[in-house]
Amino acid sequence: MEEKILIFGHKNPDTDSICSSLVKQILNNKNGYKNSKAVRLGNINKETQYVLSNLGIEQPEFIEKIEEGQKVILVDHNEFNQSIEGIEKAKIIEVVDHHRIANIQTEEPLYYTAKPYGCTSTILYKEFIQDGIEIDRTEAILMASAIVSDTLLLKSPTTTEYDKKALEELGKIANINIQEYGLEMLKAGTDLDDFSEEELIKLDAKLFEKNGKRNVIAQVNTVSIEDILKRQEKLEQTIKKEMETKEISLFVFAITDILNSNSEIIVIGNNANEIIQKAFGKKLQNNRTFLEGVVSRKKQILPEIDKNI
Ligand code: MN
Ligand code: MN
Repeated sequence: MEEKILIFGHKNPDTDSICSSLVKQILNNKNGYKNSKAVRLGNINKETQYVLSNLGIEQPEFIEKIEEGQKVILVDHNEFNQSIEGIEKAKIIEVVDHHRIANIQTEEPLYYTAKPYGCTSTILYKEFIQDGIEIDRTEAILMASAIVSDTLLLKSPTTTEYDKKALEELGKIANINIQEYGLEMLKAGTDLDDFSEEELIKLDAKLFEKNGKRNVIAQVNTVSIEDILKRQEKLEQTIKKEMETKEISLFVFAITDILNSNSEIIVIGNNANEIIQKAFGKKLQNNRTFLEGVVSRKKQILPEIDKNI
């Protein structure tokens, strides 16, 4: 039997990471490469659960590390520190991604598709079209869900014309009302009541290093910022503990209101006040501040923090 190629998105997988892995496997299959397999690097969130159970699709198998020389395809990420344990020694044969390129190095030539679209699935949608491969209903819903998730129903500033076009076409193929479906899906993902504070701060956390220091920007989506702020004290305690254990210098916890497209950030760290003042022109009060119109970590939070840290 031919050697398996593993396809996966980043750790703390979101809907794009999961759906794009599954879709990439299907696309490879339809292109005649039948030996690839989607897997996941962490628990499925509630939003993704909603998508998969609606479609009656099983979640990909969980894997923790990989062996040296394992062939892999990375989707929705490229940075090694967001990837699986052992990635340095894997054989990366392809990357399909929409993030900055950093902290990646390969021994051998590879396929690398980088587009600054709002979602990996938009890149995959265009691959279907370019390869002249038909998209069925399930594939359309998987890709549409990823686009809705990453662009917050096309409201995030990361949204491009390509995402809009792709989502419109996918909605037609799936024969669903994207607005209705998308809102239900996003809402399913914001039910955070039964997550502990520890789970909340790790749910969608991204680590980045700057000048040898480790920083984290975590984000949760909600329909009520107030609800999450009720837990501020416990959240802060948990964040401080996490910062100590993992030697993190700055921790930004963004609570994003997906209905009104705003975020409240809780920020802990030595120079937190100074950094936030420089980055957003706002003062922290009680360790937090409101950022109007800010929803995208990638485009609106990370670059500003990174510049001013
Ligand atoms: Mn992602
Ligand atoms: Mn993505």
